[in-house]
Amino acid sequence: MQDCPLTLDRIFTHAARWHGEREIVTRTAEGLVERTTYAAAQARAKQASNALRAEGIRPGDRVATLGWNGARHLEVWYGAIGIGAVLHTLNPRLFPEQIAYIINHAEDRIILADMQCKPLLDSLLPQCPTVEKVIWLTDAGAANYEDWIAPHGHDCAWGGFEENTAAGLCYTSGTTGNPKGVLYSHRSNYLHALMTLQADALALSARDTVLLVVPMYHANAWGVVYSAPAVGAKLVLPGPKLDGASIHELIETEGVTYSAAVPTVWQMLLTHLKETNGALGKLNRVTIGGSACPESIIRTFHDDYGVDVIQGWGMTETSPLATVSVPTPELAELPFDAQVPYKLKQGRLLCNLDLKLTDDAGRRLPHDGKTFGRLKIKGATIAAAYFKNEGGDVLDEEGFFDTGDVSTIDERGYMQITDRAKDVIKSGGEWISSIDVENIAVGHPKAQLCAVIGVVHPKWDERPVLLVQLKPGVSAEKQEFVEYLDGKIAKWWMPDDVIFVDEIPLGATGKIDKKLIRQRMTDYALPFDGASR
Ligand code: ADP
Repeated sequence: MQDCPLTLDRIFTHAARWHGEREIVTRTAEGLVERTTYAAAQARAKQASNALRAEGIRPGDRVATLGWNGARHLEVWYGAIGIGAVLHTLNPRLFPEQIAYIINHAEDRIILADMQCKPLLDSLLPQCPTVEKVIWLTDAGAANYEDWIAPHGHDCAWGGFEENTAAGLCYTSGTTGNPKGVLYSHRSNYLHALMTLQADALALSARDTVLLVVPMYHANAWGVVYSAPAVGAKLVLPGPKLDGASIHELIETEGVTYSAAVPTVWQMLLTHLKETNGALGKLNRVTIGGSACPESIIRTFHDDYGVDVIQGWGMTETSPLATVSVPTPELAELPFDAQVPYKLKQGRLLCNLDLKLTDDAGRRLPHDGKTFGRLKIKGATIAAAYFKNEGGDVLDEEGFFDTGDVSTIDERGYMQITDRAKDVIKSGGEWISSIDVENIAVGHPKAQLCAVIGVVHPKWDERPVLLVQLKPGVSAEKQEFVEYLDGKIAKWWMPDDVIFVDEIPLGATGKIDKKLIRQRMTDYALPFDGASR
Protein backbone atom coordinates (compact mmCIF):
# COMPACT_ATOMS: atom_id res chain seq x y z
CA MET A 1 0.00 0.00 0.00
CA GLN A 2 1.07 3.57 -0.56
CA ASP A 3 2.76 5.39 2.25
CA CYS A 4 0.47 8.32 2.89
CA PRO A 5 0.95 10.13 6.21
CA LEU A 6 -2.32 11.11 7.89
CA THR A 7 -1.67 14.85 8.03
CA LEU A 8 -4.61 17.17 8.63
CA ASP A 9 -3.86 19.56 5.75
CA ARG A 10 -5.19 16.80 3.47
CA ILE A 11 -8.62 17.23 5.02
CA PHE A 12 -8.91 20.91 4.10
CA THR A 13 -7.37 20.30 0.68
CA HIS A 14 -9.96 17.59 0.10
CA ALA A 15 -12.77 19.96 1.16
CA ALA A 16 -11.46 22.68 -1.18
CA ARG A 17 -11.12 20.33 -4.17
CA TRP A 18 -14.18 18.15 -3.83
CA HIS A 19 -16.60 20.32 -1.86
CA GLY A 20 -15.18 23.64 -2.97
CA GLU A 21 -18.50 25.47 -3.30
CA ARG A 22 -19.83 24.42 0.11
CA GLU A 23 -20.29 27.42 2.35
CA ILE A 24 -18.69 28.51 5.59
CA VAL A 25 -20.97 31.09 7.20
CA THR A 26 -19.75 33.29 10.06
CA ARG A 27 -21.67 35.63 12.30
CA THR A 28 -19.04 38.12 13.40
CA ALA A 29 -18.83 39.79 16.79
CA GLU A 30 -20.39 42.86 15.15
CA GLY A 31 -23.41 40.73 14.18
CA LEU A 32 -22.67 40.66 10.42
CA VAL A 33 -23.18 37.43 8.51
CA GLU A 34 -20.18 36.73 6.24
CA ARG A 35 -20.02 33.94 3.67
CA THR A 36 -17.11 32.11 2.14
CA THR A 37 -16.55 28.62 0.69
CA TYR A 38 -14.12 25.80 1.40
CA ALA A 39 -12.24 26.64 -1.82
CA ALA A 40 -11.90 30.32 -0.95
CA ALA A 41 -11.06 29.62 2.69
CA GLN A 42 -8.31 27.22 1.70
CA ALA A 43 -6.78 29.78 -0.65
CA ARG A 44 -6.77 32.32 2.18
CA ALA A 45 -5.44 29.73 4.65
CA LYS A 46 -2.44 29.35 2.32
CA GLN A 47 -1.97 33.12 2.37
CA ALA A 48 -1.98 32.84 6.16
CA SER A 49 0.69 30.09 5.91
CA ASN A 50 2.88 32.40 3.83
CA ALA A 51 2.28 35.27 6.25
CA LEU A 52 3.29 33.03 9.17
CA ARG A 53 6.45 31.96 7.35
CA ALA A 54 7.28 35.60 6.66
CA GLU A 55 7.07 36.17 10.43
CA GLY A 56 9.68 33.45 10.84
CA ILE A 57 7.31 30.74 12.07
CA ARG A 58 8.94 27.34 11.64
CA PRO A 59 7.65 23.77 12.09
CA GLY A 60 6.98 23.09 15.77
CA ASP A 61 6.54 26.77 16.70
CA ARG A 62 3.39 27.59 18.61
CA VAL A 63 0.87 29.86 16.88
CA ALA A 64 -1.90 30.83 19.28
CA THR A 65 -5.47 31.94 18.62
CA LEU A 66 -7.73 33.74 21.07
CA GLY A 67 -11.20 34.09 19.71
CA TRP A 68 -14.62 32.76 18.82
CA ASN A 69 -15.78 30.46 16.06
CA GLY A 70 -15.36 32.17 12.70
CA ALA A 71 -13.90 31.66 9.22
CA ARG A 72 -10.74 33.68 9.84
CA HIS A 73 -10.04 31.55 12.90
CA LEU A 74 -10.43 28.44 10.71
CA GLU A 75 -8.10 29.84 8.02
CA VAL A 76 -5.33 30.57 10.51
CA TRP A 77 -5.88 27.14 12.01
CA TYR A 78 -5.22 25.28 8.76
CA GLY A 79 -2.65 27.86 7.69
CA ALA A 80 -0.57 27.06 10.79
CA ILE A 81 -0.89 23.27 10.87
CA GLY A 82 -0.41 23.03 7.07
CA ILE A 83 3.20 24.20 7.47
CA GLY A 84 3.88 22.05 10.54
CA ALA A 85 3.38 24.76 13.17
CA VAL A 86 1.36 23.95 16.28
CA LEU A 87 -2.02 25.65 16.56
CA HIS A 88 -2.59 26.57 20.20
CA THR A 89 -6.15 27.55 21.07
CA LEU A 90 -6.46 29.93 24.03
CA ASN A 91 -9.77 30.05 25.86
CA PRO A 92 -10.84 33.71 26.33
CA ARG A 93 -13.15 32.76 29.20
CA LEU A 94 -10.33 31.65 31.47
CA PHE A 95 -9.05 33.94 34.21
CA PRO A 96 -6.45 36.41 32.81
CA GLU A 97 -3.69 35.02 35.02
CA GLN A 98 -4.44 31.50 33.72
CA ILE A 99 -4.22 32.72 30.12
CA ALA A 100 -0.87 34.41 30.81
CA TYR A 101 0.42 31.22 32.45
CA ILE A 102 -0.68 29.16 29.44
CA ILE A 103 0.87 31.53 26.86
CA ASN A 104 4.17 31.42 28.72
CA HIS A 105 4.10 27.68 29.27
CA ALA A 106 3.35 27.05 25.59
CA GLU A 107 5.94 29.67 24.53
CA ASP A 108 3.54 31.10 21.94
CA ARG A 109 5.37 33.25 19.36
CA ILE A 110 2.43 34.91 17.68
CA ILE A 111 -1.22 35.35 18.69
CA LEU A 112 -4.16 35.86 16.35
CA ALA A 113 -7.04 37.27 18.34
CA ASP A 114 -10.55 38.64 17.99
CA MET A 115 -10.81 42.41 18.58
CA GLN A 116 -13.11 41.82 21.57
CA CYS A 117 -10.16 40.20 23.32
CA LYS A 118 -8.00 43.31 22.90
CA PRO A 119 -8.41 44.75 26.42
CA LEU A 120 -7.74 41.30 27.88
CA LEU A 121 -4.69 40.65 25.73
CA ASP A 122 -3.27 44.15 26.13
CA SER A 123 -3.33 43.66 29.89
CA LEU A 124 -1.56 40.29 29.62
CA LEU A 125 1.15 40.95 27.05
CA PRO A 126 3.61 42.70 29.37
CA GLN A 127 3.80 39.40 31.27
CA CYS A 128 4.32 37.28 28.11
CA PRO A 129 7.89 37.69 26.80
CA THR A 130 7.71 34.94 24.14
CA VAL A 131 4.95 36.71 22.17
CA GLU A 132 6.51 38.64 19.26
CA LYS A 133 3.37 39.77 17.49
CA VAL A 134 -0.42 40.01 17.74
CA ILE A 135 -2.65 40.07 14.65
CA TRP A 136 -6.33 41.00 15.00
CA LEU A 137 -8.84 38.77 13.22
CA THR A 138 -10.65 41.66 11.56
CA ASP A 139 -10.45 43.81 8.43
CA ALA A 140 -9.65 47.27 9.75
CA GLY A 141 -7.29 49.03 12.12
CA ALA A 142 -3.69 48.42 13.07
CA ALA A 143 -2.28 44.90 12.64
CA ASN A 144 -5.49 43.56 11.12
CA TYR A 145 -5.61 40.09 9.56
CA GLU A 146 -6.66 41.20 6.07
CA ASP A 147 -3.70 43.55 5.68
CA TRP A 148 -1.44 40.88 7.13
CA ILE A 149 -2.32 38.21 4.54
CA ALA A 150 -2.93 40.56 1.56
CA PRO A 151 0.70 40.73 0.30
CA HIS A 152 0.98 36.94 0.19
CA GLY A 153 0.15 34.50 -2.60
CA HIS A 154 -2.17 31.48 -2.58
CA ASP A 155 0.61 29.02 -3.36
CA CYS A 156 2.08 27.18 -0.44
CA ALA A 157 3.05 23.53 -0.20
CA TRP A 158 1.32 21.97 2.79
CA GLY A 159 2.24 18.73 4.54
CA GLY A 160 5.34 16.74 3.66
CA PHE A 161 6.07 15.94 7.31
CA GLU A 162 5.38 12.74 9.18
CA GLU A 163 2.01 12.03 10.70
CA ASN A 164 3.14 12.05 14.32
CA THR A 165 4.11 15.71 14.02
CA ALA A 166 2.34 17.89 16.60
CA ALA A 167 -0.68 19.77 15.20
CA GLY A 168 -2.61 21.26 18.11
CA LEU A 169 -2.19 22.28 21.72
CA CYS A 170 -5.09 22.70 24.10
CA TYR A 171 -4.90 23.25 27.87
CA THR A 172 -7.41 21.77 30.29
CA SER A 173 -8.80 24.15 32.86
CA GLY A 174 -7.12 22.26 35.68
CA THR A 175 -9.26 21.98 38.77
CA THR A 176 -6.19 21.57 40.91
CA GLY A 177 -2.83 23.11 40.17
CA ASN A 178 -1.94 24.83 36.94
CA PRO A 179 -3.61 24.16 33.57
CA LYS A 180 -2.01 21.30 31.66
CA GLY A 181 -1.42 21.13 27.91
CA VAL A 182 -2.59 18.30 25.67
CA LEU A 183 -0.55 18.09 22.47
CA TYR A 184 -2.48 16.47 19.60
CA SER A 185 -0.66 14.96 16.63
CA HIS A 186 -1.82 15.11 13.01
CA ARG A 187 -2.37 11.38 13.15
CA SER A 188 -4.39 11.41 16.39
CA ASN A 189 -6.70 14.19 15.19
CA TYR A 190 -7.05 12.57 11.76
CA LEU A 191 -8.05 9.26 13.33
CA HIS A 192 -10.39 11.05 15.72
CA ALA A 193 -12.14 12.71 12.77
CA LEU A 194 -12.65 9.35 11.06
CA MET A 195 -13.84 7.72 14.29
CA THR A 196 -16.38 10.43 15.05
CA LEU A 197 -17.76 10.52 11.50
CA GLN A 198 -19.16 7.00 11.76
CA ALA A 199 -22.90 6.48 11.48
CA ASP A 200 -23.02 5.45 15.14
CA ALA A 201 -21.20 8.61 16.22
CA LEU A 202 -21.74 12.12 14.77
CA ALA A 203 -22.74 10.75 11.35
CA LEU A 204 -21.95 13.99 9.51
CA SER A 205 -22.34 14.14 5.76
CA ALA A 206 -22.11 16.55 2.82
CA ARG A 207 -25.87 17.03 3.18
CA ASP A 208 -25.52 18.43 6.70
CA THR A 209 -25.40 22.05 7.73
CA VAL A 210 -23.45 22.11 10.98
CA LEU A 211 -23.90 24.89 13.52
CA LEU A 212 -20.69 24.75 15.51
CA VAL A 213 -21.68 26.13 18.90
CA VAL A 214 -19.01 24.27 20.84
CA PRO A 215 -16.01 26.61 20.76
CA MET A 216 -13.01 25.93 18.54
CA TYR A 217 -10.85 26.58 21.61
CA HIS A 218 -12.48 23.65 23.39
CA ALA A 219 -10.76 20.45 22.21
CA ASN A 220 -10.97 21.27 18.48
CA ALA A 221 -14.71 21.92 18.79
CA TRP A 222 -15.12 18.21 19.54
CA GLY A 223 -13.09 17.49 16.41
CA VAL A 224 -15.66 19.12 14.10
CA VAL A 225 -13.02 21.52 12.67
CA TYR A 226 -11.71 18.35 11.02
CA SER A 227 -14.76 16.15 10.59
CA ALA A 228 -17.02 18.74 8.88
CA PRO A 229 -14.49 19.65 6.14
CA ALA A 230 -13.64 15.95 5.75
CA VAL A 231 -17.18 15.30 4.47
CA GLY A 232 -17.85 18.76 3.01
CA ALA A 233 -20.63 19.70 5.43
CA LYS A 234 -21.72 23.35 5.34
CA LEU A 235 -20.33 25.09 8.43
CA VAL A 236 -22.09 27.81 10.40
CA LEU A 237 -19.77 29.57 12.87
CA PRO A 238 -21.72 31.66 15.39
CA GLY A 239 -19.10 34.06 16.79
CA PRO A 240 -19.41 35.16 20.41
CA LYS A 241 -23.22 35.35 20.78
CA LEU A 242 -24.51 32.01 22.05
CA ASP A 243 -27.78 33.14 23.70
CA GLY A 244 -31.04 31.40 22.77
CA ALA A 245 -32.25 34.06 20.31
CA SER A 246 -28.94 34.25 18.40
CA ILE A 247 -28.61 30.48 18.09
CA HIS A 248 -32.25 30.13 17.07
CA GLU A 249 -31.92 32.69 14.30
CA LEU A 250 -28.96 30.89 12.73
CA ILE A 251 -30.67 27.49 12.95
CA GLU A 252 -33.67 28.77 11.01
CA THR A 253 -32.05 31.10 8.47
CA GLU A 254 -29.13 28.84 7.56
CA GLY A 255 -31.10 25.58 7.44
CA VAL A 256 -29.02 23.94 10.18
CA THR A 257 -29.51 20.15 10.35
CA TYR A 258 -26.98 19.31 13.08
CA SER A 259 -25.40 21.05 16.04
CA ALA A 260 -23.20 20.32 19.05
CA ALA A 261 -22.94 22.11 22.41
CA VAL A 262 -22.93 21.76 26.18
CA PRO A 263 -26.33 21.38 27.95
CA THR A 264 -26.46 24.96 29.27
CA VAL A 265 -26.56 26.32 25.69
CA TRP A 266 -29.50 24.06 24.83
CA GLN A 267 -31.29 25.01 28.03
CA MET A 268 -31.10 28.68 26.94
CA LEU A 269 -32.31 27.83 23.44
CA LEU A 270 -35.29 25.80 24.69
CA THR A 271 -36.29 28.55 27.14
CA HIS A 272 -36.16 31.07 24.28
CA LEU A 273 -38.26 28.83 22.01
CA LYS A 274 -40.93 28.44 24.69
CA GLU A 275 -41.08 32.21 25.24
CA THR A 276 -41.32 33.00 21.53
CA ASN A 277 -43.22 29.96 20.31
CA GLY A 278 -40.30 29.33 17.95
CA ALA A 279 -39.55 26.30 15.77
CA LEU A 280 -36.30 24.60 14.82
CA GLY A 281 -36.51 24.42 11.03
CA LYS A 282 -34.50 21.57 9.54
CA LEU A 283 -32.61 20.69 12.71
CA ASN A 284 -32.85 16.91 13.17
CA ARG A 285 -30.17 15.98 15.70
CA VAL A 286 -27.85 17.51 18.26
CA THR A 287 -24.86 16.14 20.12
CA ILE A 288 -24.81 17.14 23.76
CA GLY A 289 -21.75 16.59 25.89
CA GLY A 290 -19.24 18.25 28.18
CA SER A 291 -21.52 17.60 31.13
CA ALA A 292 -24.43 15.24 31.71
CA CYS A 293 -27.56 15.94 29.71
CA PRO A 294 -30.77 16.47 31.74
CA GLU A 295 -33.73 14.28 30.79
CA SER A 296 -35.94 17.34 30.31
CA ILE A 297 -33.72 18.54 27.44
CA ILE A 298 -33.80 15.14 25.73
CA ARG A 299 -37.59 14.91 26.02
CA THR A 300 -38.36 18.50 25.01
CA PHE A 301 -36.20 18.23 21.90
CA HIS A 302 -37.88 14.95 20.98
CA ASP A 303 -41.48 15.65 21.93
CA ASP A 304 -41.81 19.30 20.92
CA TYR A 305 -39.36 19.65 18.03
CA GLY A 306 -38.68 16.14 16.65
CA VAL A 307 -34.95 16.53 17.30
CA ASP A 308 -32.87 13.53 18.37
CA VAL A 309 -30.42 14.15 21.20
CA ILE A 310 -27.22 12.12 21.06
CA GLN A 311 -25.18 12.37 24.22
CA GLY A 312 -21.41 12.16 23.91
CA TRP A 313 -18.65 11.96 26.49
CA GLY A 314 -15.02 12.85 26.40
CA MET A 315 -12.40 15.24 27.66
CA THR A 316 -9.56 17.36 26.31
CA GLU A 317 -7.20 14.44 26.92
CA THR A 318 -9.35 12.13 24.76
CA SER A 319 -9.41 14.41 21.65
CA PRO A 320 -12.27 14.63 22.95
CA LEU A 321 -15.05 12.28 21.83
CA ALA A 322 -14.79 8.73 23.20
CA THR A 323 -18.31 7.41 23.89
CA VAL A 324 -21.62 8.17 22.18
CA SER A 325 -25.09 7.15 23.27
CA VAL A 326 -26.74 5.74 20.18
CA PRO A 327 -29.14 2.77 20.37
CA THR A 328 -28.11 -0.83 19.74
CA PRO A 329 -30.44 -2.70 17.31
CA GLU A 330 -32.39 -4.15 20.28
CA LEU A 331 -32.90 -0.73 21.90
CA ALA A 332 -33.81 0.93 18.60
CA GLU A 333 -36.92 -1.26 18.44
CA LEU A 334 -38.19 -0.11 21.83
CA PRO A 335 -40.58 2.82 22.31
CA PHE A 336 -38.91 6.19 22.97
CA ASP A 337 -39.68 6.08 26.71
CA ALA A 338 -37.76 2.84 27.09
CA GLN A 339 -34.79 4.33 25.20
CA VAL A 340 -34.54 7.41 27.42
CA PRO A 341 -32.61 5.71 30.27
CA TYR A 342 -29.92 4.81 27.72
CA LYS A 343 -29.91 8.27 26.18
CA LEU A 344 -29.15 9.54 29.67
CA LYS A 345 -26.04 7.39 29.79
CA GLN A 346 -22.85 8.67 28.22
CA GLY A 347 -22.85 5.78 25.78
CA ARG A 348 -20.79 3.15 24.03
CA LEU A 349 -17.17 3.27 23.04
CA LEU A 350 -15.95 4.40 19.60
CA CYS A 351 -13.67 2.01 17.73
CA ASN A 352 -9.92 2.21 18.30
CA LEU A 353 -10.40 2.73 22.04
CA ASP A 354 -10.51 0.57 25.15
CA LEU A 355 -12.23 1.35 28.43
CA LYS A 356 -12.08 -0.16 31.92
CA LEU A 357 -13.35 0.44 35.44
CA THR A 358 -11.07 -0.07 38.41
CA ASP A 359 -11.10 0.36 42.16
CA ASP A 360 -8.61 2.70 43.83
CA ALA A 361 -6.01 -0.11 43.91
CA GLY A 362 -6.28 -0.52 40.12
CA ARG A 363 -8.18 -3.84 40.17
CA ARG A 364 -10.72 -4.25 37.35
CA LEU A 365 -14.40 -4.01 38.31
CA PRO A 366 -17.36 -5.73 36.60
CA HIS A 367 -19.45 -4.16 33.84
CA ASP A 368 -22.80 -4.81 35.51
CA GLY A 369 -24.35 -1.35 35.39
CA LYS A 370 -24.20 -1.10 39.21
CA THR A 371 -20.58 -1.24 40.31
CA PHE A 372 -18.92 2.11 39.92
CA GLY A 373 -15.22 2.78 39.76
CA ARG A 374 -12.54 4.92 38.21
CA LEU A 375 -12.95 5.18 34.48
CA LYS A 376 -9.76 4.55 32.49
CA ILE A 377 -9.22 4.74 28.76
CA LYS A 378 -6.61 3.78 26.17
CA GLY A 379 -6.11 4.30 22.45
CA ALA A 380 -4.52 6.25 19.59
CA THR A 381 -6.55 9.40 20.37
CA ILE A 382 -5.82 9.41 24.13
CA ALA A 383 -3.07 11.51 25.74
CA ALA A 384 0.06 9.62 26.81
CA ALA A 385 1.37 12.55 28.89
CA TYR A 386 0.85 16.28 29.31
CA PHE A 387 2.85 18.86 27.37
CA LYS A 388 6.41 19.19 28.73
CA ASN A 389 5.56 16.15 30.88
CA GLU A 390 3.71 18.32 33.39
CA GLY A 391 2.36 16.13 36.19
CA GLY A 392 4.67 13.19 35.30
CA ASP A 393 3.35 9.74 34.43
CA VAL A 394 -0.37 9.63 33.72
CA LEU A 395 -0.77 6.05 32.48
CA ASP A 396 -1.23 2.91 34.56
CA GLU A 397 0.82 -0.27 34.03
CA GLU A 398 -1.59 -1.38 31.25
CA GLY A 399 -1.23 1.96 29.47
CA PHE A 400 -4.65 3.33 30.47
CA PHE A 401 -5.25 7.02 31.23
CA ASP A 402 -7.25 7.77 34.40
CA THR A 403 -10.07 10.15 33.39
CA GLY A 404 -10.87 11.32 36.92
CA ASP A 405 -14.47 10.29 36.30
CA VAL A 406 -16.36 7.76 38.39
CA SER A 407 -18.63 5.59 36.25
CA THR A 408 -20.55 2.39 35.68
CA ILE A 409 -20.61 0.28 32.52
CA ASP A 410 -23.67 -1.91 31.93
CA GLU A 411 -24.01 -5.33 30.25
CA ARG A 412 -24.82 -3.64 26.94
CA GLY A 413 -21.61 -1.61 27.10
CA TYR A 414 -23.22 1.73 27.99
CA MET A 415 -20.98 3.82 30.20
CA GLN A 416 -22.60 6.20 32.68
CA ILE A 417 -20.77 8.90 34.59
CA THR A 418 -21.69 8.87 38.28
CA ASP A 419 -19.66 11.99 38.97
CA ARG A 420 -16.27 13.51 38.62
CA ALA A 421 -14.19 11.92 41.36
CA LYS A 422 -13.94 15.26 43.18
CA ASP A 423 -17.70 16.04 42.98
CA VAL A 424 -19.10 12.73 44.20
CA ILE A 425 -20.88 13.06 47.55
CA LYS A 426 -19.92 10.52 50.20
CA SER A 427 -22.77 10.05 52.64
CA GLY A 428 -22.58 7.41 55.36
CA GLY A 429 -19.93 5.48 53.42
CA GLU A 430 -22.03 5.39 50.24
CA TRP A 431 -21.91 7.58 47.15
CA ILE A 432 -24.55 9.97 45.95
CA SER A 433 -24.35 11.10 42.33
CA SER A 434 -24.65 14.88 42.29
CA ILE A 435 -25.20 14.69 38.53
CA ASP A 436 -28.27 12.45 38.84
CA VAL A 437 -29.94 14.66 41.42
CA GLU A 438 -29.31 17.94 39.60
CA ASN A 439 -30.45 16.57 36.27
CA ILE A 440 -33.75 15.41 37.72
CA ALA A 441 -34.23 18.66 39.67
CA VAL A 442 -33.68 20.81 36.57
CA GLY A 443 -36.71 19.08 35.04
CA HIS A 444 -38.87 21.11 37.47
CA PRO A 445 -40.78 23.60 35.32
CA LYS A 446 -39.59 26.56 37.41
CA ALA A 447 -35.88 25.65 37.28
CA GLN A 448 -33.40 27.26 34.92
CA LEU A 449 -30.24 25.61 36.29
CA CYS A 450 -29.58 23.29 39.23
CA ALA A 451 -26.40 22.24 41.00
CA VAL A 452 -25.88 19.75 43.82
CA ILE A 453 -22.84 19.82 46.08
CA GLY A 454 -21.82 17.92 49.18
CA VAL A 455 -21.72 19.77 52.51
CA VAL A 456 -19.86 18.48 55.54
CA HIS A 457 -22.16 16.72 58.02
CA PRO A 458 -21.10 15.57 61.52
CA LYS A 459 -22.78 12.19 61.29
CA TRP A 460 -22.94 11.29 57.59
CA ASP A 461 -19.62 12.92 56.45
CA GLU A 462 -21.40 14.76 53.66
CA ARG A 463 -24.96 15.51 52.69
CA PRO A 464 -26.25 16.88 49.38
CA VAL A 465 -27.56 20.44 49.06
CA LEU A 466 -29.49 21.60 45.99
CA LEU A 467 -28.90 25.05 44.52
CA VAL A 468 -31.58 26.31 42.16
CA GLN A 469 -31.48 29.22 39.74
CA LEU A 470 -35.13 29.85 38.92
CA LYS A 471 -36.40 30.90 35.50
CA PRO A 472 -36.63 34.69 35.13
CA GLY A 473 -39.54 36.26 37.02
CA VAL A 474 -40.53 33.04 38.82
CA SER A 475 -40.65 32.35 42.56
CA ALA A 476 -40.82 29.02 44.38
CA GLU A 477 -40.82 27.37 47.81
CA LYS A 478 -38.17 24.85 48.85
CA GLN A 479 -40.86 22.28 49.41
CA GLU A 480 -41.85 22.33 45.73
CA PHE A 481 -38.45 20.93 44.82
CA VAL A 482 -38.47 18.37 47.62
CA GLU A 483 -41.86 17.12 46.43
CA TYR A 484 -40.70 17.08 42.84
CA LEU A 485 -37.69 14.90 43.69
CA ASP A 486 -39.67 12.63 46.03
CA GLY A 487 -40.05 9.21 44.41
CA LYS A 488 -37.62 10.02 41.62
CA ILE A 489 -34.45 9.48 43.69
CA ALA A 490 -33.52 7.20 46.61
CA LYS A 491 -34.81 8.65 49.90
CA TRP A 492 -31.33 9.11 51.34
CA TRP A 493 -30.27 11.04 48.20
CA MET A 494 -32.83 13.76 49.02
CA PRO A 495 -30.97 17.08 49.45
CA ASP A 496 -30.94 18.35 53.04
CA ASP A 497 -31.53 21.89 51.83
CA VAL A 498 -32.74 23.76 48.76
CA ILE A 499 -31.11 27.14 48.21
CA PHE A 500 -32.39 29.62 45.65
CA VAL A 501 -29.56 31.62 44.07
CA ASP A 502 -29.54 34.47 41.55
CA GLU A 503 -26.93 32.77 39.47
CA ILE A 504 -25.35 29.34 39.20
CA PRO A 505 -21.81 30.15 38.01
CA LEU A 506 -20.58 28.58 34.79
CA GLY A 507 -16.92 27.85 34.14
CA ALA A 508 -14.83 28.66 31.09
CA THR A 509 -16.31 25.84 29.03
CA GLY A 510 -19.95 26.54 29.91
CA LYS A 511 -20.17 23.89 32.61
CA ILE A 512 -21.44 24.47 36.14
CA ASP A 513 -18.47 25.69 38.17
CA LYS A 514 -18.70 23.59 41.33
CA LYS A 515 -15.33 24.72 42.55
CA LEU A 516 -16.62 28.30 42.70
CA ILE A 517 -19.91 27.20 44.27
CA ARG A 518 -18.00 25.36 46.97
CA GLN A 519 -15.90 28.48 47.61
CA ARG A 520 -19.04 30.62 47.89
CA MET A 521 -20.58 28.10 50.28
CA THR A 522 -17.66 27.80 52.71
CA ASP A 523 -19.61 29.56 55.49
CA TYR A 524 -22.79 27.61 54.88
CA ALA A 525 -24.14 25.30 57.60
CA LEU A 526 -26.93 22.77 57.13
CA PRO A 527 -30.23 24.02 58.60
CA PHE A 528 -31.27 20.74 60.19
CA ASP A 529 -29.76 17.39 60.97
CA GLY A 530 -30.12 15.41 57.75
CA ALA A 531 -33.42 13.91 58.86
CA SER A 532 -34.08 12.62 55.36
CA ARG A 533 -31.45 9.93 55.59
P1 ADP B 1 -12.69 20.79 31.77
O1 ADP B 1 -11.95 20.01 32.81
O2 ADP B 1 -12.09 22.07 31.42
O3 ADP B 1 -14.17 20.82 31.95
P2 ADP B 1 -12.98 18.88 29.68
O4 ADP B 1 -13.83 19.43 28.66
O5 ADP B 1 -11.82 18.08 29.24
O6 ADP B 1 -12.39 20.01 30.45
O7 ADP B 1 -13.88 18.10 30.69
C1 ADP B 1 -14.01 16.72 30.64
C2 ADP B 1 -14.94 16.24 31.70
O8 ADP B 1 -16.27 16.69 31.44
C3 ADP B 1 -15.05 14.75 31.76
O9 ADP B 1 -14.00 14.19 32.49
C4 ADP B 1 -16.39 14.55 32.43
O10 ADP B 1 -16.29 14.66 33.83
C5 ADP B 1 -17.18 15.72 31.94
N1 ADP B 1 -18.08 15.29 30.84
C6 ADP B 1 -17.88 15.37 29.53
N2 ADP B 1 -18.94 14.91 28.84
C7 ADP B 1 -19.84 14.50 29.76
C8 ADP B 1 -21.15 13.91 29.69
N3 ADP B 1 -21.78 13.67 28.54
N4 ADP B 1 -21.76 13.64 30.86
C9 ADP B 1 -21.17 13.87 32.04
N5 ADP B 1 -19.95 14.43 32.17
C10 ADP B 1 -19.29 14.74 31.05
